[in-house]
This record gives sequence, C-alpha cells and structure tokens, in this order.
Amino acid sequence: MKSRLLIINSVCILGILWAQEKTFYLKSGDKVTGTILSENETSIKLNAQDDIVEIGGIKFKVVKKGNSDRKYIWFHGDEKTAKMALDHHMKTNEGTAYYIQNKLREVNFHGGLLDPNRIFSSDGIEKNIQKYNPQWSLSKKMEILASFDRERPTFLNEIFPKNGGLLIAIHNNFRGYNVNKEIKRSDSISIKIDQNPHDFFLCTNRTDFELLAKSPYNVVLQEKWTDEDDGSLSWAALRYDVRYVLLETRLGWFKKQKEMLNYLHKNLK
Ligand SMILES: [Zn+2]
Repeated sequence: MKSRLLIINSVCILGILWAQEKTFYLKSGDKVTGTILSENETSIKLNAQDDIVEIGGIKFKVVKKGNSDRKYIWFHGDEKTAKMALDHHMKTNEGTAYYIQNKLREVNFHGGLLDPNRIFSSDGIEKNIQKYNPQWSLSKKMEILASFDRERPTFLNEIFPKNGGLLIAIHNNFRGYNVNKEIKRSDSISIKIDQNPHDFFLCTNRTDFELLAKSPYNVVLQEKWTDEDDGSLSWAALRYDVRYVLLETRLGWFKKQKEMLNYLHKNLK
C-alpha cells in the first residue's frame, strides 16, 4: 500500500513539474530551462540545474561571463551592499560569480543554523556546528560533518580558479569588525591614515599585497597557514595555494565598494 501511494505521489509530482518546465531567454541572450518556483508580475524565479552549485545543501547561484578564470563569491545574504557591488561589477567584466541563495548571514540548516563561511575545514565546521546547534545529537553532528567533508573537494574545485587565477570574496561589516582585528595575525600590513578601518583588503599572496599596498586603500597580508584554521575560505585558499583577496567595506557604502572592487580588478592580473 505504502509503495503504491509512493508511486501515485511520484507520478503526481512529476506531472506537476513536467507541466511547469519552461524555457526562458535571459537579457544576456542565454537560454535557461527550469521549473517555475514562484511567479508574479515582476519576477520569475528559476530552478535551473546548471545555474546552481552546492555544498552540504547550501546553494550558490552561478553567473558566468566570458572565458576569464577570475572568480568572485558572496557569502552572507544580509550583506546587500556587497551583492549590489558584485552585480554592478559583473555587468561590465568577465569571470564567474557565486551568490549564496540566502537572505540572512546564517543559513537555516536541518532545523538549525550555520555560518556559510565556516565550512571549509573539518575543524571549522565542527566549531560552527557546536556554536549554533549544541542541541543536535552526536550522530546528527557526525553525519553533517561527514557530508561537508565529502562534498568540499568538489565544491572547492568548482570555485577555485585554475592556473594561478584570483578568487575575490566580497563582504560588508557593521560597527565591530575592521582591519585592526586582523593586524595581529598578519604578516605585512599597509594602513592608510585617511581610510576608514572598516574598508580594507585582506590577501594571501605577497605579490598581490605589494601591488595593493600602493593603492589608496588599507590592506593586510596573511600568507602562512596555521592550525588556527576557522573554516573560512581564506584559510582554504592558503591551504591550496590559491590567490585570494577578501574585500570588506561598511554596509551601505556602495560607491566605496564598487571603487575598491574596480581597483582590485584593474590592478591585479
Ligand atoms: Zn560577510
């Protein structure tokens, strides 16, 4: 009986999905086929398979333009200025941008929460799980930890540029976090007296640092991996020897973030 119900349900669901499968032409001219998730007068959301990459169920929309191997990633759904700056940048530049599909900083995850930028090492995700979901059973924690460990290599392989290319992560802060909090663990620093400490670059490659030190902006270099790895993408980039630059500005400072992203893009090859 159960199996018959399952078959009937599956047929119904397939029927609905089949009925809603449609092809759309985007402004860029690209053709996308997918299922309509919601539709109103102004927007249609698509669940197009080849537009999404995911790790442990955390989804990122992929926007690819041209053949450049430059990669960009936006992690925290509440950092709207960073998303706007990246959208603006991608209108006129080539590369691949990954946008988290989430509205808040933390992702709702199996009835709990996770910070999507603390999943890139086993130690990091373990601390992340303990911090947000201490109530989870040990077996649930182990299962989730194992799924991230399993899927991480494929995900990193997707988002890491090849052949020495650059990966740029784009963030916003609000009051607390600023460049001064990174000075202690940095190998070199270039702090500009006329710049706000909340607006800065953090990079992992010394040549990139030396170029950015000549910019009008604050920059710090963290080029050595240590076992303080908190699971953020910067540590994974260090571990795999990928050139990585984090761009931080204050939330709401759109013009500043556009300007810094443009500087980074133009001056780092
Ligand atoms: Zn962030």
